[in-house]
Amino acid sequence: MLQEREGIPDGLLEAETSELERLLGGPTLIHLPGERQPALFVSVLMHGNETVGWESMRTLLRSYLGRFGALRLPRALSLFIGNVSAAALGLRSLPGQPDYNRVWPGSELPPSAESAMMQRVVGIMRRRTVFGSVDIHNNTGRNPHYACVNVLENRFLHLATLFSRTVVYFLRPTGVQSMGMAGLCPAVTLECGKAGERHGTEHAQEYLDACLHLSALPDHPVAPHDIDLFHTVAQVKVPGDVSFGFPPGKAEILFSPELDHLNFRELPRGTAFGRVLGEQQMRLDVRDEHGRDVGERYFHLEDGEIRLTMPVMPSMLTRDASVIRQDCLCYLMERYNDHVPQRG
Ligand SMILES: [Zn+2]
Repeated sequence: MLQEREGIPDGLLEAETSELERLLGGPTLIHLPGERQPALFVSVLMHGNETVGWESMRTLLRSYLGRFGALRLPRALSLFIGNVSAAALGLRSLPGQPDYNRVWPGSELPPSAESAMMQRVVGIMRRRTVFGSVDIHNNTGRNPHYACVNVLENRFLHLATLFSRTVVYFLRPTGVQSMGMAGLCPAVTLECGKAGERHGTEHAQEYLDACLHLSALPDHPVAPHDIDLFHTVAQVKVPGDVSFGFPPGKAEILFSPELDHLNFRELPRGTAFGRVLGEQQMRLDVRDEHGRDVGERYFHLEDGEIRLTMPVMPSMLTRDASVIRQDCLCYLMERYNDHVPQRG
């Protein structure tokens, strides 16, 4: 399933995400030399419709080619181009395919060809050794640009705050790239806003260039005023047998049309997420970091509305029904700056 190669194939940097499958034939790990070793590891298109990773990477590589006539990178780069078959159709993943960002080592999903491939990628990078790891994503709701880490260590937080002062620490979902790579090197996931936004591509490109120029990742503490750290305390899903929509639609749950304006805002108790029609039950599936059902801690039903039981800050709220179905409605977070390590 996985292809591995040295150097950029002809014509690749001219290709849109939808053309990569035709040019590469499948998921591909490309190694490029640079002045410093070991390589920065970058993965793009874990989700086929999130174009920012490939767009920022190919723009950066083209600028190096244009400047020097050859790829003279300041640091070696290993680039993993993931779900090209889903990208060919502009989909997050193909029907029947597992989510490429849920099958990395540590995943709780049953073994699959895709999880074996990610294991192989991690094995290859372990043998080669890695400087740092960056996995690049878009999301669908209104969110600021932010970085995620799964380990609270100074070097991870430095790699994260190089992208944004907003950093999210999470342990679920499992099987994400940044968790699978965390045993090898500092690893982050970047969330670069909606696909197609130029600002997201430019931001990711500047960040990748900065990473390639780093001589080391510092181990001293991140200054508290340089970081807004949040901790994901729960993931919220709509159960598969519950219909949902947005006004003026008809469904068992009708979410607020302004839902994605609530991302990264500290919401007071009583904030309504939507209305429940028919059977008067809350019916959201809310799981904490250990997979436990914590629905009643965060939500209750009042006057037919799903309301917050305690103040929280959501992220990734979206109005995209297919994302809500395939992934989740949102995550709930708490402020976590007290947990920024104070020592090197
Ligand atoms: Zn994604």
